[in-house]
Amino acid sequence: MSIKNILSELNEKEEQWQELLKDCLSCNKCALHKTRTKVVFGKGSRNAKIMFIGEAPGESEDKEGLPFVGRAGKLLDKYMTVFDLSPDDNVYIANILKCRPPQNRDPNDSEQDSCIDYLRVQTKLLDPQIIVCLGRIAAMRIIKPDFRITSEHGIWFKKNNIYMIAIYHPSALLRDTAKKADALIDFKAVREKAVELGIL
Ligand code: URA
Repeated sequence: MSIKNILSELNEKEEQWQELLKDCLSCNKCALHKTRTKVVFGKGSRNAKIMFIGEAPGESEDKEGLPFVGRAGKLLDKYMTVFDLSPDDNVYIANILKCRPPQNRDPNDSEQDSCIDYLRVQTKLLDPQIIVCLGRIAAMRIIKPDFRITSEHGIWFKKNNIYMIAIYHPSALLRDTAKKADALIDFKAVREKAVELGIL
């Protein structure tokens, strides 16, 4: 492919990201648009081959408009740092829902259905080789509806040519520190898979 073609493809992709962001920021497809402060679209490198998917914004994320910036996010940052992962470099992070459910309740099915196309397009544009689901809700939506986080965290699945794994949600680790040992093992598995695939 010529340099001209590569540049025009990159431009086209950038335009598609911008268009998606614009649509998402003005979304009113479900009732959560009435109670949100900010839409939480995503953060990280658009060249990343590793995508982390959480559940929905919490209070801090709703205020700042960025995913995983609260207490759970700080813990997630720590794990990422240990394994050379970073949204500044090799990771992109998004949520199933782009708006905060009141009182941080679980996202319901109809909210997820309204929102999921944004994540679908984000995933298509990013074209990740690894998807890491943070917690049960993301795993049930992305990997399989009957996903059991306690027995199936740390197990690799392959769908649409993408390696997928679920690990404990950082909020679960804050609530139950006994799960932290498993989280370390699972993060190590993510790193090892990334090295095996030549993306780290
Ligand atoms: N929990 C999530 O699932 N996502 C966030 O962005 C913050 C907390």
